[in-house]
Amino acid sequence: MKKLLIFLSLIIAIYLIGQLALNSHTVQDRILNIGLKNILSNSEPFLDKEDSLKVVICGSRSPLPSPGRAESCVLVEAGDDIYIFDMGNGSVNNLQEFQVPWTNVKAVLITHMHSDHMADLPDAHLQSWIQGRNSPLMVYGPEGINLVTKGFELAYSADYQYRNEHHGDEILPMSVSGFNAVEIVDNELIPNDTPGLEILPFVVDHYPVNSSFGFKVSYKGRTVVISGDTIHDGSVQKYSQDIDLLVHSAISIDIVERMRKVAPTPQFDKILFDIQDYHTKIEEAGEIARDANVKHLLIYHSIPTPRNTVMERVFFRPIEGIYEDYTLSDDGTRVVMPVGNNEIVIDKIN
Ligand SMILES: [Zn+2]
Ligand SMILES: [Zn+2]
Repeated sequence: MKKLLIFLSLIIAIYLIGQLALNSHTVQDRILNIGLKNILSNSEPFLDKEDSLKVVICGSRSPLPSPGRAESCVLVEAGDDIYIFDMGNGSVNNLQEFQVPWTNVKAVLITHMHSDHMADLPDAHLQSWIQGRNSPLMVYGPEGINLVTKGFELAYSADYQYRNEHHGDEILPMSVSGFNAVEIVDNELIPNDTPGLEILPFVVDHYPVNSSFGFKVSYKGRTVVISGDTIHDGSVQKYSQDIDLLVHSAISIDIVERMRKVAPTPQFDKILFDIQDYHTKIEEAGEIARDANVKHLLIYHSIPTPRNTVMERVFFRPIEGIYEDYTLSDDGTRVVMPVGNNEIVIDKIN
């Protein structure tokens, strides 16, 4: 009893000393300065010494809301070069929090022109401009992508002007404002100067979207396929044969049908019905991974994205008995595939 009292007194004393210290301006200043240094100069998740193919999910949800998640975004780091596939709403905020080194971002690649895959392009433009991008932001996308980037340039022309006038040509030169948009051609490698890297786009079926792509990324023997939005039309499976990682979107028909039963408006019910015909079902994603002999399946752009463990278990019910090596991604899920071995390490940034 006496020991317990001494222990409790000690805890209370430490707490009181801590509270007093927090009132000291010197202590506040030191803590704040260390915090600011960490916020502004920590790019630890990127550019490590080990040569690897790395995937970071910078947006894990579909347009259906799910707290704490951004819309579609998949970052791929090959050596020290970074390529970002899609930039949905909230994804650039994630990239800022992950301390992405924008000067290492070589290009943004847009799978298709649905808003949940490209809404944050203007923010990516700003953040990379601030960090010293030395040419217009490189964007690869489907036919018509230049209309999207021209539209953003027009909408943000005053913004570019204001920032350039305020900070000067040295910091934010107008010569590198805007985008350099290039259309993707099916099955033609995306040009890049990263040694050992191949980025191969392939057409997927997301009808009525008339041009939609998936990508196979190969780097020094390690491989990842990103599905984009698609039905199970065989193309993802074809390009995923024996790969290390398949990043696939998926829909739970079971949960979407349950949502329809409680839909607050006929419009929402209609949308929940319509979306079922242009996405891959979760069990189909499992079949693709199994039949293509994929080492690991990472689910993103889940419809709807599970909000808790119960919902997650119901979401994955149909995959039971089909394929077991899967993970539901969060924003910040990172998969590291070191060059020279078969290891796949999954962890999370933050
Ligand atoms: Zn989508
Ligand atoms: Zn879509």
